[in-house]
Amino acid sequence: MKKIRFLIALWASKAARLLLRLLKRKATSTPGKVALAIDKSFLAGFKLPKTVIAVTGTNGKTTVSNLLTDILTKNGYRVTNNSYGSNIQAGIASVLLQDADLFGKIHTDVAVLEVDERSSLRVYPFIQPDYLICNNIMRDSVKRNAHTEFISYIISSALTEKTHLILNADCLNTATLAQQCKNRTYFGLEAEKPEVSAEPYISDVVYCPTCGGELKHEYLRYNHIGRMYCENCGLKSPTPDFAVTAIDWENSTFTVRHPAGEDTYTLINDNIVNVFNYCGVIAMLTRLGLKPDQIALGFDSSKIVKSRFDKMTIGKRDLYVLLAKGQNPIALARTFDYIAHLPGENKGIVINDDDLEDNINNSESTCWLYDCDFRYLAHPSIGQIVFAGPRRYDQMLRAKMAGIDESKVTLVEQPEKAAQGLMIQGCGDVFLLYEMYRTKDSAVIKKELIEMMEGDAANEN
Ligand SMILES: [Zn+2]
Repeated sequence: MKKIRFLIALWASKAARLLLRLLKRKATSTPGKVALAIDKSFLAGFKLPKTVIAVTGTNGKTTVSNLLTDILTKNGYRVTNNSYGSNIQAGIASVLLQDADLFGKIHTDVAVLEVDERSSLRVYPFIQPDYLICNNIMRDSVKRNAHTEFISYIISSALTEKTHLILNADCLNTATLAQQCKNRTYFGLEAEKPEVSAEPYISDVVYCPTCGGELKHEYLRYNHIGRMYCENCGLKSPTPDFAVTAIDWENSTFTVRHPAGEDTYTLINDNIVNVFNYCGVIAMLTRLGLKPDQIALGFDSSKIVKSRFDKMTIGKRDLYVLLAKGQNPIALARTFDYIAHLPGENKGIVINDDDLEDNINNSESTCWLYDCDFRYLAHPSIGQIVFAGPRRYDQMLRAKMAGIDESKVTLVEQPEKAAQGLMIQGCGDVFLLYEMYRTKDSAVIKKELIEMMEGDAANEN
C-alpha cells in the first residue's frame, strides 16, 4: 500500500511538473508539494543514489553545494542537486522526482542536497544522508529560525548514527552536533590566527553546550567562530582533521593539511568566510575518495555564482555586487567587514536591503538590524553610504547608533533610484549590496552605477 501511494504521488507530481514546464512556469517546488499532499512519506519512497550528501548550516550552504556538485560533475559523477531550486522539503521532493524514473529509482551516482536547517525534521527521518556537511550555525531570522540552540537541537535529533558528519571545528554549535553520530570529520582554519581576539558584538555561543559553564576562548575570529574551551567540563573545540594552514592572498592560493599530507588549492574568492566553505568541501570530497588533483579541478575553474558575488573593473575602479540577505545579521556584518578591510579609499556603498517579503501580519521585523554589527561601516576607508527604500530611516538610525558620521550617509526613497544617491566623482570602489528579493530594482541600480562609473572614467581620460 505504501509503495502504491508513493507511485501515485510520483506519477501525479511528474504530470504536474510536465504541465508547469509546458506552461513555461518554474517547477522548483510545486511538483514536490503535489507529491507530499498525496504521500507524506514521499521522500522515503525513492531508490536513492549510492551516496547522499546533505549540506546544511546558516551561511554558505549554496556555495558549498554548488562547489561539491561542480567538482563531482567535472570528475565524471552524475549528480542530483537542488542548488537552483528550493532547499525545503517540497524543493527536495521536486528535484528527486525530476531525476527519478517512473518507479522512483534515481539513476545518478551522488545526490548533493542543500537542506534548510528548519526542514531537518521533515527531511532526515525520510532520507538518511550518508554524509552531512555543516559549516556554521549562527543566528538568522528570529521569526523563521528562532534560536541557534533550537536549530542545533532539530538537526541533532533528526539524524541517525548512520550519517558521517563533516563539521566546522571552529564553530562550537556545529562541532557538538548529533553526538550519536560517531563518524565525525572536522575542518577548520589555523592560518591567520588573529593576534588580538575579536570582541564580538554578538555571540551565539556563550555558555558550554555540554555543562552550561562559562566558555573561555583561545581566540575568536568573528562572532563565536574561533577556538573555545570549558574549564568546568573540559569540552574544547576539536582539532581539525582538515585545516587551512596558509593563505596566500596575493597569489590566490590556500594550503590544507590533512591526514595524508598537505595540498595547495586555488582560492576562488578572498572572503575569509568562504575559506571555511572551501575547506569543508575538500574534507567532504576526500572522505568520498577523491584525490587532491581531482578536487583541484573544480577550484581552478569555479566561480561563485554571479548572483552572489560579482566584481567588474570600470576605469580605475571596481564595482562589487554582493548578495546581502535581509534578516540575516551575521552574513550582512561579514559583508561589511569584508568591504571595510579591502584595500582602497573613499569606498562608496549602496545598500538596497529592505525585506518587505518578511512583512507578515502587517509588520516586518527590524530587530535583526540591531544584531548586525554596523560598526564596520564606520571604517575610515568608507566615504559614502546610501540607504535606499522604505526601511532607509531604520538603517540610518542603526548606522548612527554605530557611530557612523551622518554626513557620509544619503537616503534615497525609491530603491531603483539608489545609484543617484552616490557622488561618483572622487569615489573609490563601489559596492552594491542587495537583498535576494530585491533583484529587479537592484539590476536597475547596477546598470545605472555602471553608466555613472563609465561616464566618470571617460571624463578622466
Ligand atoms: Zn562545559
